[in-house]
Parts: sequence; structure tokens; C-alpha cells
Amino acid sequence: MGLSFSVSISRSQDSYFYPNAGKFNLQIPTPEKFLGYPIGEQHTRHESLVAYFKELDKLSERISVEEIGKTFENRTQIAAIFTAKKNHDRIEEIRKEHLAGQSSGATENVPLVIHLGYNVHGNEPSSSEAAMLTAYYITASENEETLKWLDDMVILMDPVINPDGRDRHSHWANMHKATPAVADPLDREHNEIWPGGRFNHYWFDLNRDWFLATFPETKNRINFFHKWRPYVQTDHHEMGTNSTFYFDPGEEASNNPLVPNYLYKKIYPKYAEYFTKAIDEIGSLYFTKEAFDKLYPGYGSSYINFYGGAGFLFEQASSRGHVQETQTIPITFAFTIRNQLTGSMAIIRASIAEKNSLLQMRREFFNVSKEQAAKSPIKGYVFGDPNDQTRTNAFIEKLLLHRIDVYEIPNSSNFYVPTNQDNHIMVRTIFENQITYYDSSFYDASVWSLIYAYGLPYSEVKNFMTPSKKITSIPEPTISAFNKSKYAYLVNNTDYNIHKFIYELQSSGVILKTAFRPFSTIVNGAERKFGYGSIVIPVQQQNISAETLYEFVTKASKSSNIKVHAIETGYNSSGVDLGSSYVKTLKKPEAFMIIGTGVAASEAGEVWHLLDQRLKMPITKIDILNMGRADLSRYNTMVIVSGIYSLFDKATIEKIKSWVQNGNTIIAIKGGAEWVIRNGFTKENLQQPDTSKLLSVRQDFDRATEIEGAKALGGSIFRIDLDTTHPVGFGFTTRKIAVYKNSLTFFQNSKNPYSTVAQYLAEPLIGGYVHPTTIKKMKGSASILVGSEGPGRVVMFADEPNFRGAWYGTNKLFLNALFYGSLINIPQPAIVEE
Ligand SMILES: [Zn+2]
Repeated sequence: MGLSFSVSISRSQDSYFYPNAGKFNLQIPTPEKFLGYPIGEQHTRHESLVAYFKELDKLSERISVEEIGKTFENRTQIAAIFTAKKNHDRIEEIRKEHLAGQSSGATENVPLVIHLGYNVHGNEPSSSEAAMLTAYYITASENEETLKWLDDMVILMDPVINPDGRDRHSHWANMHKATPAVADPLDREHNEIWPGGRFNHYWFDLNRDWFLATFPETKNRINFFHKWRPYVQTDHHEMGTNSTFYFDPGEEASNNPLVPNYLYKKIYPKYAEYFTKAIDEIGSLYFTKEAFDKLYPGYGSSYINFYGGAGFLFEQASSRGHVQETQTIPITFAFTIRNQLTGSMAIIRASIAEKNSLLQMRREFFNVSKEQAAKSPIKGYVFGDPNDQTRTNAFIEKLLLHRIDVYEIPNSSNFYVPTNQDNHIMVRTIFENQITYYDSSFYDASVWSLIYAYGLPYSEVKNFMTPSKKITSIPEPTISAFNKSKYAYLVNNTDYNIHKFIYELQSSGVILKTAFRPFSTIVNGAERKFGYGSIVIPVQQQNISAETLYEFVTKASKSSNIKVHAIETGYNSSGVDLGSSYVKTLKKPEAFMIIGTGVAASEAGEVWHLLDQRLKMPITKIDILNMGRADLSRYNTMVIVSGIYSLFDKATIEKIKSWVQNGNTIIAIKGGAEWVIRNGFTKENLQQPDTSKLLSVRQDFDRATEIEGAKALGGSIFRIDLDTTHPVGFGFTTRKIAVYKNSLTFFQNSKNPYSTVAQYLAEPLIGGYVHPTTIKKMKGSASILVGSEGPGRVVMFADEPNFRGAWYGTNKLFLNALFYGSLINIPQPAIVEE
């Protein structure tokens, strides 16, 4: 069915979006006038949107636009500031007065700062179009009401949170748009191809990144947030086409227990009155209270809650395209935009009217936070890994980004974070793993202690420590120079950057070896230990001269901050010598990853991002549809993550199997591991579901969501025992490691005693929610397996070692599999008759 909506939108654009708006300043172009089409008729490209904001900045004294950064695809991130000219003239003063009055709430006479954020998920495009309409309204309206907003408020706006994803989707919708428009849900316009526009460049969900802050887009945005610390922040989304509209309050059970109750009890219900009035007026259906998570701190609508502000979520049914049929009448792009615009206007009205409540909220926040800090038996946290400066510094970077006070500890490689500080609640959020929950069916993660993600040793301090020097930037890595050697260079592999170091040298043609057994040797007169997997770089056994080698090793040491030791003998004081057969030559990884339709894009993106950004190592991304014609002989490692791999034909599966049998390596994560097991790539087994429990107790129909939801594993942290003598465990200084698990992939322990590289402990739960039947399956079962397949092998992970780019503590497991995988030959146990 083709429906032509564009004409009617065009003719009545003003009355459709701005009924009873009053007088506009005619010098200010509407988005329609500037762009050349009515809003809703086409998806606006990011560049055009940025140009529109800059035009407003040029023409009006009410708005200024800053560039806050660039995305990976080099798109400009902008932030707009709206306020009256008299405020713009002293904006820096206002900002300082606003920040100074924070904790006392003494900002009655300072303009109220709020922030509107749009389009974090690229294929939820209505909100950025609404951002332009909102910007136009604030800039052009001559209403008394609008003038008062400008006098009494500073309205910040981030019109496109995910420019790369938005453009990917906009391009898709525009390129398939027909005239007349096709509303049939099966039309290609409404069905993006993989990976879709939701994600950023590396296929990450930026609406989980506010807390983890893996991406420059987020870091730029968080810095802007802290520069302003608004009272209110919005986050606009879209949901299924047959849904309606959603505004807060969210599900009560998902209120975060660390955040003072005033927000949930007073602010959300109060604001709901304004939203209700505005949305009732335009006749749209909506829902509240029954869904959406406020627990996790990494959403655009929740991060602010941990800093004494109020985050608001709007969700709009998606037209996904320009018009699409629904179970009632077709939904148009313009309609979705109008609801988002209405939400934006309502939040401005509510905020100015409820200013006193907002100030009260912030006072309460700081009071409760101080009380919590005073009562806390934990006075601070000491953390740091003396063997891994890179990982320690990466964690410190995160703390500083979230404006946590961190102190040096004199004569120590550790650092100190006192709990009694302004951002006490964020300190708890980062360090604590036991938070009491009201509910068991989580939208997402149920725990997020960053200290575990970084795998750093830490301890709780019960007595006050006198802090020494406060850190204001990431500590400079201390890497001492080393002499040129005629014999060999040695490197411990405990630092996070070790694989980056190896790869840089391998790319320059340097031959590196790794020790499968530890040893000690004399370096500069002192005995020094080198653990499992330490790197040995012989000087003579190279295709390059000793001078060139020294130059390359020096360069790699500097770029990866890796400490190198020059030695002049192969005779070690204990353990194996350097010429031992236990010191094996490393193979440069030539890796590919299967991507495309059916593949879990964010899991694949985690691998891509890790290798690209942290190792500067390329990985070929082969589309599942091209696997049939791929010549695999140029690769030695294949990565497969979770996904539905039904597009594989039998011949391709057989081709991969014989490639493995030729001595190559598969690294399979979660669903990818299940797939390789089910398709006979390995003799290892999955745990079978216990069907005896299926005949269970009768339940009321309506309880199904709650009961079944509780069985999922949204994301929790568990402890494993890792074999640190196994190549996958090389470089870990302890056997007890925290892992992130968010799936129901469970392996049986291997029949081969040397194949179960890691096992969950008998009491594995560190933090988060897990269903009682799940934990039973997990206890003592395998978390990492390496199946031996002829001269090849399959490395299988039940958990997600690269989770959201944040799990620095377990990246090493994956990278070990990638770099040491080809050297793993699993011993076959002999049967001994007794
Ligand atoms: Zn969304």
C-alpha cells in the first residue's frame, strides 16, 4: 500500500508541530526553510543538522554552538547553549556560580541549567529531528513564556549523541524511500541490513557507555556534562512500531538503591503530571511505570542521577522509515517527531516550574551522600597492580573522568580513593559489588563494579588514611631505558600492553619466543624472575642486524610502555635456559572474524575495537555470505562470537573443519562456542538442559514475565580458577580471576585433564543477580576450554572476555588465545592400568 503523507505534512508544518505558538522571529529560518524539505519528509543528514545549528548561532544571540569533539568517522559532535543575550554575555560566570552553589542548593538566583540529549541509538532518528524543531522554537519564538525561559535558564542541547550510527540509518531510510511512500513493513526501507544504525562505528551501544566511557564520543560528552552538571538531562529513544510513547517514572523495582529517594518519590511523579498534560493534549497513547531500568548508571537517562540530577527517558514507537503500517493506523515519521518535540517542550516547562524541587533534590542528594559516607565502615579503597601500569592507569583515567578524587600513596605503586568525597555515590557504584536489589528481572547488567572489570587488586580501608598528593592526570608510565644486547632481550608479560608490543615487533619482522616454563636470570647484577609466557627476543636468530633489532625493540618498548631487559647469557640461574625446547617461537596472528547477518554485532565489535584501537592490529572481517569463496590458507586464526549461523552451508562448515585440522585455531565466544560444539568442530560438550524440571508447578498466566525473566542471566560477575601455566592463562599473577557472564552458555568439564583452562569456583558469584538453578549448573563447571582437534585447536569461552570494551581484566585471556593459540598442543593422557 502506498500512502502519500508528505503533502499534508508540508502544508501544515507549523500548525502540526507548533499549534498556538504565537509569534516567531522571521529572521530565523525554520528547519524546513533551511533544509529545503518539511521535517518528517526525509531523514536529515548529520552535516545538514550541524549546519542548521551553526546557522542559528550565526543569526541569533540566544544560541551558541560548540564543537565538543569528533567521532571515529570524523563527524563533528556539537553542543548548543540556549539562553538570553544578557546571560550569554556572562556565561562563564553563570557556570561558576551554578557549580559553586551545587551542594548547598544555593542557586535560586542563578539561571537553571538543564540538558536535552537526542538520538543515542542511530536508528531511532525522530529525536534529532525534534531537536532541530526545539532549537528553532527556543531561538525564534517571541512568546513571553519563551523569553522567560531564556532569562531564567541555560538550556544545553546535544542534538545527536551518535552521529555515525544516525547517518548510517538516515542514509538507509532515504535511499529506500519511495514516492509515494511504501508503508508495508516488509519493504526494504523498514528493514536495515546488518549491523544497522543503532551502534556507533565499532558496533557498540553508546547508551551503555556513559559509565564505562570506552569511546571518545562519550568521553567528550561526559566532560561537557561535568563542566555544567545540569539539574536535568533527557535521553530520547524509539521502540517497536506497534508500541506507543513512554515517559518516566520507570519501573519502581529498578530504582537504584544508592540514589537518594527524593528523585524517585518526588521528581519523577511531579514531572509525569507535565508530560501527561502535554501528551494528552495531542491525543497520543503512552505508558509509564511498567518498564525501563534506572539501576545501571551507564544510560543517558541515569548517569546524571548519580550526580544529584534527574535523568529522563522518552521512548517513542518507531516509524523506522517514513511511514509504516501498524495494528491501527499507519505511523508517520512526522508523528514520531511530534511526540519527541512535545516531550522536550514539556521538560522545559516542568523544569522552570519545579526549580525549587530541583534545588531541593540536589541538596538532598549531597546530604544523603554525606550521611552515607559518614556511616560507611569503609573509609577508602587502595588499589593498583605493580605488575601492570597500563591497566592501573586505564582505571585511574576512568576515575578521573567520573570526577573521583584519587590520591598517590608515597613509595608505593598503589593509589587511594577516600569514600568521604563529593562523589561518594559514584565511588560506591564503582567499587561495590553487593547492592541489594528489589527485583530479579533485569533489563541489562545487574552489577558493574568497575574495579572487577579492570581486574585490579584492591582492599577496603577501615581506618582514615591521611591522603597525600591528589592526582589530576594519569600518572606518566615509568619505563627505564635498556642497553643494546648481543645476546637477548627479556620481557615479562604481565602488562596489559604486552600483545601490542609483540604485534608491533612481529609486524617489523622481529622473531619472538615465549617461555612455557618460568625461569630466573641475573639482570644488572640482581636476580629477576620471568613467569610463564615471558617473551624472549634472541639477537642472533633474526633476519635483521643487532642494531636494527635494538632500534625496533626500543621503539616498541616506548610505544607500549613495556619494560625490556637486556641480557648477555642464555644460562639461567633457575628454571629453563633460553635455548630450551620450552621456549617456543611465536607465530604472528593472521586472524579473521565472521561477521554479517545473524552475528551479535556488539560482541564482534568488541573484538574489532580491541585489536584496532588497543593493539593497532588488523583483523579481516569476513561476511558470512563470503565464507564459501574465502581462501582460508592465508589465516591461522578464526574468531567466532555469538550469532545465528544458519547461513553457513555444509560445504563451508567442512572447509573450516579441515582448515582447523591443518593446525589452525578457532577462538569461539559464548554462542560461537555453542555453535562450534553443536557442529562437531570439537569433541568438547555443552551442558544439557535438565528437562526433568519442565513439569513444574502451575502458575498464573500473568506471572510468566516475572518468572521467566528471572531465569535469564542479564550480566553478573563470577570468579574462576585459571590455570596460569596454560598459554591462555599466561601473564596472570593470580589464579582467581573475575569474569563477566551474561549468557546461559555452559560447558561440561573436558574429559581431557589438560583442556579445562578455567573453571568457576564452588561459590562463584562475586556480584549481581543469578537464578538458583543457574548457579547450580555453574559451580565447578568449565569457563574456558581448549579442545584439541588434530594439530589444530578450538579455544572456547563461556563468558565475554572483551565485554563492552571495559573488561581490561579479561582481555588478556582472549589476546593470549590469539597470540599463543597456535602453540597450544594439548597433551593426551595415557591410560595406566593399576
Ligand atoms: Zn534506544
